[in-house]
Amino acid sequence: MKIHEFQAKRLLAEAGVSVPRHVVAKSADEAAQAFDDLGGPLAVVKSQIHAGGRGKGRFKEEPEQPGVTLVKSADEAKANAERMLGNTLVTIQTGEEGKQVNTLLVEQGLDIARELYLAVLVDRETKSPVIIMSSEGGMDIEEVAAKTPEKILQEKVDAGYGLHTFQATNLAFQLGLEGPAIRAAQKFLPQFVRFFLDSDCSMAEVNPLVVTGDGQLVPLDAKVTFDDNALFRHKNVTELRDLSEEEDSEVRAADAGLSYVKLEGNIGCLVNGAGLAMSTMDLIKLHGGEPANFLDVGGGANVEQVTEAFSIILSDDNVKAVLVNIFGGIMRCDTIATALLEAYDKIGFSVPLVVRLEGNKVEEARKMLADSGKAITSATDLTDAAKKVVAALGDSQSSPQE
Ligand code: ADP
Ligand code: MG
Repeated sequence: MKIHEFQAKRLLAEAGVSVPRHVVAKSADEAAQAFDDLGGPLAVVKSQIHAGGRGKGRFKEEPEQPGVTLVKSADEAKANAERMLGNTLVTIQTGEEGKQVNTLLVEQGLDIARELYLAVLVDRETKSPVIIMSSEGGMDIEEVAAKTPEKILQEKVDAGYGLHTFQATNLAFQLGLEGPAIRAAQKFLPQFVRFFLDSDCSMAEVNPLVVTGDGQLVPLDAKVTFDDNALFRHKNVTELRDLSEEEDSEVRAADAGLSYVKLEGNIGCLVNGAGLAMSTMDLIKLHGGEPANFLDVGGGANVEQVTEAFSIILSDDNVKAVLVNIFGGIMRCDTIATALLEAYDKIGFSVPLVVRLEGNKVEEARKMLADSGKAITSATDLTDAAKKVVAALGDSQSSPQE
């Protein structure tokens, strides 16, 4: 689960980390008032969306307006807020459709001496959290990693203890920090790692982490993602969820107990088991297709879930064919076939449907599908299924009705 920058900064402040003074504004007048409350002479007006790249992003309706902007007066804060609120910000991370800005963060403008990069995330190779820093903050970190990997510093984090002072000191020296900034790093970095561990984050990124003219370390940006599986331990975090930032279909799926991730392709997939769903997507790609989604209906899917799953898959206009791949282990194939047929009637299928069933009671299930008289293509194995759904897609796209 992701949260907004202003929420992340609030949580950080509660964890004892100093953040820049800021005010949240929902209208242009509130933005002007916020400027006055902060006391000037400089403030920054920042669009709150669940995506980065805002500084370089521009609004669809106001092509000159950046998503983060420096202002020198209440009037300027107000004018910028008017061009931002209610409008759609497009950044490198939002995709072309962009995201609507409904909230602004008005923050004190800081005297920036250096911009560093900081992130804590889970390294799957070492199975531990890792702190990543770079002297090249504020820029595209992927580019720094690709072109000058020696500028990316890493320290493995002891998940039980947190970040040791000597590790923070090491990082500070490698980043070339001096005097008070070293002491600031010795305090700030362990605190930040502690926040990551205590909140069950999967990622916490501060870009830029600035060194101010007087040697303080201040997080100017904060992007935090939480591990969904641990959210039950953090009621205060769950309350910060902003559903308007999430894909509608993903919210519906979560409500129905389905694991669903929307993707860019045009072949809808309904599969039981995450591993099977992954291999189904791989096979679709291997045979020249592109999956429209990842969807795991789980081990014991019922008619309601299968119906909702179909309905979610078909609500995506990109979907031009559907592949059902079910292994009847815990679940009997004939139960799945019943669910499929009922869902088929309820939804009214308009795109080709390929079904591969295997396992317990598969013969009965195949017979039910064949006898149903519905336009369902049966497949015998995974490769057969992937080939058939890719072929069905070709047929449906070349047919004059489409
Ligand atoms: P994004 O990463 O989405 O572009 P940031 O919060 O990193 O958004 O802001 C973009 C840039 O704006 C920063 O790299 C920094 O140079 C500048 N900036 C952001 N907040 C402040 C601030 N409080 N004071 C001065 N400059 C700021
Ligand atoms: Mg940033």
